[in-house]
Amino acid sequence: VVGRVPRSPRRDEELDEGPSAEDLERFSGVTRTCPSCSKEVFDDAEVCYHCGEAMSHTGEGGPPKWVMLTAGVLLAAFVLLWLVR
Ligand SMILES: [Zn+2]
Repeated sequence: VVGRVPRSPRRDEELDEGPSAEDLERFSGVTRTCPSCSKEVFDDAEVCYHCGEAMSHTGEGGPPKWVMLTAGVLLAAFVLLWLVR
């Protein structure tokens, strides 16, 4: 049968950090899978609260924001150097 996601077994132990299973189900639309440990974390989580992996929010396919910023600064500096030589 396709279309039914099997529910993960509820673990009441080891839940002193992070949301409970009910929270994960309630916010099932805004969770994502950690690329490091493959567990569910909130979409707006800065880091994975399972393994501590930093979660990026730049979306798939695009370079990180700092890469674009660095490229823009380098390009501006290059143009400036070219203009004043
Ligand atoms: Zn993780």
